[in-house]
Amino acid sequence: HNGKEQGLEFVRYTAAIKNQTQSRIELENDMRKGLEREEFFLEFQPQVSLDSGRVVGMEALVRWNHPRRGVLSPGEFIPVAEDSGLIVPLGEWVLRTACSYNKKWQDDGYTPICVSVNLSMRQFRQHNLADKVDCILQEVGLEAKYLELEVTESMTFDIDTAFEQLQRLKRLGVHISIDDFGTGYSSLYYLKTLPIDRLKIDRSFVKEVMLDGSGAAIVSTIAMMAHHLQLKVTAEGVENEEQLEFLKLQNCHEGQGYLFSKPVPAGLFERRFLTRIAG
Ligand code: C2E
Ligand code: MG
Ligand code: MG
Ligand code: MG
Repeated sequence: HNGKEQGLEFVRYTAAIKNQTQSRIELENDMRKGLEREEFFLEFQPQVSLDSGRVVGMEALVRWNHPRRGVLSPGEFIPVAEDSGLIVPLGEWVLRTACSYNKKWQDDGYTPICVSVNLSMRQFRQHNLADKVDCILQEVGLEAKYLELEVTESMTFDIDTAFEQLQRLKRLGVHISIDDFGTGYSSLYYLKTLPIDRLKIDRSFVKEVMLDGSGAAIVSTIAMMAHHLQLKVTAEGVENEEQLEFLKLQNCHEGQGYLFSKPVPAGLFERRFLTRIAG
């Protein structure tokens, strides 16, 4: 490399960084407006009991109907929301909206089910999170037992802080699950100590149960451990009958995945998956 080439490379490099920064700032501004203009919406994915085949829960998943770019999935904007702090108002909107749908469906006479909402690291670090959740439940009129909060293993890294935060949430009566389980670094000690109700086995393991020995071994080990710790187990990313049969044999309680349904808009979820209370 001579000096001139290096100089050019540097110019290109900084231009690329500048573009990235630019589009991030743009997305952040769009998001701020989008929150005001109510461009965000929720889809719901059914959670199915592997025993009965019934829909016993639903996970609320956020989407963004961007005015120029169309519908964006959370992978495209949650990281920006997390960095900018906008995840806090967005997360509260998700929580309130998910609880509102659940309450409305109960009021309309459907069999009550639990709604799961994903928490981000930033939300989980807020000292007043439990108060906020409590406020939203009161405001909406939903009983706490119909809400489940999903956290990831990375949020439990500082076990003392996580313990306190989870304890405050549990005292409200909400359920707690660990999402994407197996991809982080929970030790057995954490699982025994933390006040959690459920493990959601990450879909990367479920995907592999029929392909090689290790995926199957990991899933059955997690399921067995969960049983001993008296935790519920949900398998994520169930896509075919072979996986379903395997999961049933491992005594997984619930499954979620394209085999049952992709996440769908609220109206469709209501028509397709909610059932009237018998009698
Ligand atoms: P997650 O909480 O693990 O949600 C499950 C993701 O897997 C969803 O992707 C869902 O559409 C997808 N999925 C479900 N079944 C299958 C399947 O059978 N096969 C495959 N290949 N995928 C399946 P989505 O909706 O794109 O969400 C991605 C992630 O974004 C979520 O992962 C969650 O971590 C995050 N996220 C979504 N909504 C929110 C939210 O409201 N707040 C926060 N903080 N994060 C959210
Ligand atoms: Mg989740
Ligand atoms: Mg997950
Ligand atoms: Mg995930």
